[in-house]
Amino acid sequence: MTQSFSELSLSPAIERAVAEMGYETMTPIQAQAIPVVLQGRDVMGAAQTGTGKTAAFTLPLLQRMMKHENASTSPARHPVRALVLLPTRELADQVAEQVKLYAKYTNLRSMVVFGGMDMKPQTAELKKGVEVLVATPGRLLDHIEAKNCVLNQVEYVVLDEADRMLDIGFLPDLQRILSYLPKQRTTLLFSATFSTEIKRLAGSYLQDPVTIEVARSNATASTVEQHFYSVGDDDKRIVLKKILAERGLKQAFVFVNSKLGCARLARSLEHEGLKTTALHGDKSQDERLKALDAFKQGTVDLL
Ligand code: AMP
Repeated sequence: MTQSFSELSLSPAIERAVAEMGYETMTPIQAQAIPVVLQGRDVMGAAQTGTGKTAAFTLPLLQRMMKHENASTSPARHPVRALVLLPTRELADQVAEQVKLYAKYTNLRSMVVFGGMDMKPQTAELKKGVEVLVATPGRLLDHIEAKNCVLNQVEYVVLDEADRMLDIGFLPDLQRILSYLPKQRTTLLFSATFSTEIKRLAGSYLQDPVTIEVARSNATASTVEQHFYSVGDDDKRIVLKKILAERGLKQAFVFVNSKLGCARLARSLEHEGLKTTALHGDKSQDERLKALDAFKQGTVDLL
């Protein structure tokens, strides 16, 4: 099996972007999926976020699209050729960011559309022409219905985090989107599990797919140290603050099981003088992006 990116004979523009990312060897999903996608086969991949799967599908798709690459400013010369669908705005944003990095030395354009944001700037960008469109299903349908994008030249479709898309109830939206696409195309489906529903989805939309499975879904990265504390409800905040203080953690994610609990805990930590921001479903998309950005920039310590 190929392990090094140089063995893939990617175009120099793509190779340069990969080299700049500092990747030395391919991750298991990349080593298995990239050659298969380069051959034009459909793929059913069991892989989670963190395994390098974004590059596993993006690099070969960009490579295959290089034959269409052009510097023309005409929108007609930049039709949507690859569609990447994800369940959440955050994931879509994250994947789109990676696609931009890998495509940065090519003339292939990419962009992201997701809900909760004004349609107008997205529409303006779509109309200029874009080869790789990363989207959440609901907002993509809004754009299709408004005739903001033409999908009759789509050659590649990626259904990423497909199990989560089904959990959220996106199946009818996915079926509608797929019905607008050319039948002759490459379809890649990634999912943490291959449930009966996922297999059914694959059965309907994939042609003779190659199945690729990497590290089981519940495997933890070897760099993660795990501790378990048994505490009563009333003591949780105190224990959390103690752990943060004692371990001298600079930045931390704290996961909470409800929106209200999340908002309350954030307020309480803020009162203690800790730079905290909360991220939950009652926040607007703009607030969510700002919170993530503040955490990334380091202006906030606890998310
Ligand atoms: P993903 O699973 O696609 O979300 O990727 C997880 C992270 O791994 C991202 O930050 C990538 O930049 C990084 N990554 C992807 N491929 C490689 C590689 N071959 N070597 C090192 N890091 C990688």
